[in-house]
Formats: sequence, C-alpha cells, structure tokens
Amino acid sequence: MAHLFIQDPAGNWGLAPLRGDCCSLHPASRRLLKSVASDALPKKGILLQRVGPATRREWALLASPDERIFLNGARMEVGMRSLRDRDELLLFRTRHGRRRAGAEVHAIGTRLFFSTEELARIVPFVAAGHDVFCVRCQQPIDSQHPAVQCPNPECGHWHHAGGDLECWTYDATCAMCDQSTAPEADYRWTPEDM
Ligand SMILES: [Zn+2]
Ligand SMILES: [Zn+2]
Repeated sequence: MAHLFIQDPAGNWGLAPLRGDCCSLHPASRRLLKSVASDALPKKGILLQRVGPATRREWALLASPDERIFLNGARMEVGMRSLRDRDELLLFRTRHGRRRAGAEVHAIGTRLFFSTEELARIVPFVAAGHDVFCVRCQQPIDSQHPAVQCPNPECGHWHHAGGDLECWTYDATCAMCDQSTAPEADYRWTPEDM
C-alpha cells in the first residue's frame, strides 16, 4: 500500500497508509489525512487520487488554485500532478493573527513524503502464463502456492513461503538482495535516510 510519511511539529516522522482510492489532505486540521469517496478536482482543498489499478501504486495529487503546495521544492502551479516514489510535499496553511494586531500572518508548513514501498507479505502466487522459479530453491512456483515477492523495488524476486517450502524465511535476507526476511522488517526507506 502506498503511504505518506508526515512530519510533526517536533520533527518526528509518522506513517499514514493511503487507504481506498481517494484521500483528502487538510493542512489546517489535526487529522491531516482522510479517506473520501469523491474523485473530482476540489474547488477547495487537496486530494490524493489513485490512478489505475491498485497493483500499480500510482497516485495523483489534485489541488485547488488557492492551495500553497511545494512539490520537491517547486511551487505547484497546475491543479494536478502525478506523484513518484519519495516525492516531497510541503503544504502551507495561513493562520491570521488577531485582528487588532494588524495583518499578522503566520505561515506554517507541513512536510510530507509520498512512498510506494510495500512490506513483504505472503500471497497466493498468481501464474502469469510462464514459469516463475523460486530464487531460493530454483523450483517452479505453482499457481496459488503461498509466496512472497521481495519488496525491494530493485529486486522483486519471488520465493516460496508456505507448505514444506519456507524459502522466504529460510535465511535472514532475500536470496538475491539484502532485504530482511524478518516478519517485523520495516520499510527500507524513511525520510530519516535523507
Ligand atoms: Zn523455493
Ligand atoms: Zn530481494
């Protein structure tokens, strides 16, 4: 599932999964991210909209013209942009000070990162017309056999993960890369790596 890393005012990063097909972002609200049903370009506000099937993990950002959004450091001028893995978003809300204090304005930014990385999970293998071989034991993976696809985007190799063939957890790492196979393995990338 694609997700957002959201930085709180103290500088710590929290993780928010993008559930469903459409989420709205509310920079001025305590609850920044909400799942919504609408898929239209908002008159006001910011939407994250899934593009294409869920397996492709592609999302677009839609925003009304009065939103102040910086995407990877550049002011977003058009109403819609497709997002890429590790895109940085800076959302600004403008809070007006007390009237009698004059036109005092505080701009408060919220920093986010979009990530398409997935965690390893066991799924029934879906054969796609050609044989796929487990990279641990070199045997073909039968359709519907429990299997894990390495979540490292640069790897993505399949392993058996059930029955008599616990090939994924056979070793501490993937048979082809340094991805941890521990059940509690966390995301490979977080904004703290920047
Ligand atoms: Zn195997
Ligand atoms: Zn791997």
